[in-house]
Amino acid sequence: RKWVYRFGGGKAEGSAADVAMLGGKGANLAEMANLGLPVPPGLTILTDACAWYFANNCSLPEDLKAQVLAGIAGMEAETGRTFGGSSKPLLLSIRSGARASMPGMMDTVLNLGLNDETVQALGNDAADARFAWDSYRRFIQMYADVVMGIDHEIFEEVLEDEKARRGHDYDTDLSAFELEHVVGLYKRLIEEEFGETFPQDPHVQLWGAIAAVFASWMNPRAVTYRSLHRIPEQWGTAVNVQAMVFGNHGSSSATGVAFTRNPSTGERALYGEFLVNAQGEDVVSGIRTPQSLTEEGRLSSGSDKPSMEKLMPEAFRQFVSICDRLEAHYRDMQDVEFTVERGKLWMLQTRAGKRTTRAAMKIAVDMVGEGLISEEDAVSRIEPSSLDQLLHPTIDQRVERSVIGSGLPASPGAAAGEIAFTAEEAVVAEAEGRKVVLVRVETSPEDIHGMHAAEAILTTRGGMTSHAAVVARGMGIPCVVGAGNMRVDLRHEQLVCPGGIILKKGDMVTVDGSSGHVLKGSVPMIQPELSGDFGRLMEWADKARRMTVRANADTPADAHAARSFGAEGIGLCRTEHMFFDGERIHVMREMILAEDEAGRRAALAKLLPMQRSDFTDLFSIMHGLPVTIRLLDPPLHEFLPKSEEEVEEVAAAMQMEAGFLRRRVEALHEFNPMLGHRGCRLAISYPEIAEMQARAIFEAAIAAARETGEAVALEILVPLVSLRSELDYVKGSIDRISAQVARETGVRIDYLAGTMIELPRAAIRAHVIAETAQFFSFGTNDLTQTTFGISRDDAAGFIPTYQRKGIIDQDPFVSLDLDGVGELISLAAERGRKTRGDLKLGICGEHGGDPTSITFCEEIGLDYVSCSPFRVPIARLAAAQAAI
Ligand code: PEP
Ligand code: MG
Repeated sequence: RKWVYRFGGGKAEGSAADVAMLGGKGANLAEMANLGLPVPPGLTILTDACAWYFANNCSLPEDLKAQVLAGIAGMEAETGRTFGGSSKPLLLSIRSGARASMPGMMDTVLNLGLNDETVQALGNDAADARFAWDSYRRFIQMYADVVMGIDHEIFEEVLEDEKARRGHDYDTDLSAFELEHVVGLYKRLIEEEFGETFPQDPHVQLWGAIAAVFASWMNPRAVTYRSLHRIPEQWGTAVNVQAMVFGNHGSSSATGVAFTRNPSTGERALYGEFLVNAQGEDVVSGIRTPQSLTEEGRLSSGSDKPSMEKLMPEAFRQFVSICDRLEAHYRDMQDVEFTVERGKLWMLQTRAGKRTTRAAMKIAVDMVGEGLISEEDAVSRIEPSSLDQLLHPTIDQRVERSVIGSGLPASPGAAAGEIAFTAEEAVVAEAEGRKVVLVRVETSPEDIHGMHAAEAILTTRGGMTSHAAVVARGMGIPCVVGAGNMRVDLRHEQLVCPGGIILKKGDMVTVDGSSGHVLKGSVPMIQPELSGDFGRLMEWADKARRMTVRANADTPADAHAARSFGAEGIGLCRTEHMFFDGERIHVMREMILAEDEAGRRAALAKLLPMQRSDFTDLFSIMHGLPVTIRLLDPPLHEFLPKSEEEVEEVAAAMQMEAGFLRRRVEALHEFNPMLGHRGCRLAISYPEIAEMQARAIFEAAIAAARETGEAVALEILVPLVSLRSELDYVKGSIDRISAQVARETGVRIDYLAGTMIELPRAAIRAHVIAETAQFFSFGTNDLTQTTFGISRDDAAGFIPTYQRKGIIDQDPFVSLDLDGVGELISLAAERGRKTRGDLKLGICGEHGGDPTSITFCEEIGLDYVSCSPFRVPIARLAAAQAAI
């Protein structure tokens, strides 16, 4: 069985298409090798071997060994070096590489193959003993951490002590002799900690490292990351074994990372950092502050350290041209890693770069302009749910602000919260409903939970590619990194700011990830403009989509928001929400508490003008776009007081006896109100309620049409129908009122009468119901509740457990259960349309704003989706992607 694919010397066995087998890193290394780019030769052990490893008691397949050794022989031939050789030794890097990028989650070992003998050979060959010993001490440190499980911190301590003892500030100040001494200390430490000597045989090192990389697939932080990003466990990781090139080979060597465009703003300019005389891990670890790649970058960061452009002009030019080539080839922004070894450039990695939504939009729109991609490509590239990020508020620049520190603007948007100094504190505070800002010297993958709980992240160390920056951008939360003028004093749980300002744990701060500023207290914010690139992209999305997008809007404020986000109508107005406000609730209670029809009618007469004016506003705001109004749905006792105190309060306010009110409340009590006296059942028991609503609707439609000069596109929706006869009865009332209003006013309002499909019986009998209904609106909240028999109000008590135990993947109240509820919807759609060819179909449950559910709606040919106003842009984009 083939376990290994090789690459190098301008060719490769695999390509970017083989990502499932080779992992992202391996596939792109193969692709770069095929493009003839300077890639050190190497091999990729397939992801299948990872599955084999775990299925076979954490062991490696027998036939893998010969294949790896053959690959190493190939590297030896290409480099003219020998693995474990006593002259010109070949050293290897061993890196993980899963199908989906999991930055920093799994392990890496560099400089593998060094031992007491090869370190001498490396030094002789390079005529640089310091470089050889530096590589050896790095190797021992990484290998001990990754393979032997000894915390790397204790090695850092040894190194720090040595530097202090000898009066050095930087690692690079240590001489060959001093590093050799450090290596001796490291080896002794391992013997003490581990009871074993550090392995000298390069082959033992090799198999140990490969197994450790596979094992790291299951380390807790990788497991957490996968569950947060829905990466399947069975994918496994590949292992890349590659000839080392050295960025720590003196001052003509360097290592760096770059984005081909700015990952925060999307601006078209090479964006990155590098370190002279260093190895890869130094750049991302934040231990030394990296230098800019370009002069422009250096100037804008105000750094006095020279850029790569200045320092290594030849390698820089070549690097720029490779970046251009990669962008053109992948037709996307790339995130690359490179090393310069004594002036020669090597490419170590390329992948699509993570970016903020704002950057994603700009890059997509710019690339259309550059002719690299089509408008539809651009639309397909934006993750619909990420649009949420753009709806983040920013700081109102007009108000007085107190800037107490600043760093790099790593992830845009602004947010305020209480200071938490550890991930645990952040998690606890969030669970208690408080907003927190996580403040750390720097973050590591162990902090992931706390980062998720935080509104914003602030670090005092690290650059734009540090862990905090990358993760925050991915999560879309505001982040400032490298705020070097602030100091975290963990012992006293305080943040020390310039000018002697001290903030304690729990104090409020505002982090502005767009400017890099940190502000004292909670600062006023403003909503962003949704124009520019966003507007362009939305235009293209609107061109590409078939379904229309409406909003669920109950009030004029909702309706305005809906229009500003581009809703093409109201798909659901829940009229009950109009009855809770101020004086209305009293009148509503009067109606409910009335002992006979006459009493009810008297109260309804008071409600009529209120309803009419609400509807007139909604119709006017929507200017002739369709407006779907649903008759009263919830059980009546929802409007009544619950506790004894409330009963007494309300009784006093309504000048009635508390005893009477209590008896009425008890009489209306239901054991299972969700399945009780609600929906169309109310309109059947108390037709006068539906009649009042119908009258308010028709009279409002006439008034609004007069006011705006545009006819109202009216749809009246009957909730919770399961029988056609129910709908017939209620539609009868509506038709009667329509005729009455027409007689009274001389104006006839056209309208559609339709039904919610939110009960399984209605879905199954859709062909019969469609004989009366002119449209269906799928109420997937109730349909999910009744199909599963899971109360939507109690689901939160056990759905998370179901998810954790792998019983279900997704909460069915968030993302449509396609197999069950979805099947009912498509059956109802099909049966309904068989009866009535022009039956209008839409969805108005929460799922109407969920991208996966929207894809399903497109597939079964619904006419529209309706969701909350803020999700309208997400739905427009998702509907477009579904149609492309
Ligand atoms: C539904 O049930 O999906 C629906 C939209 O109605 P409500 O949420 O008001 O019950
Ligand atoms: Mg419902």
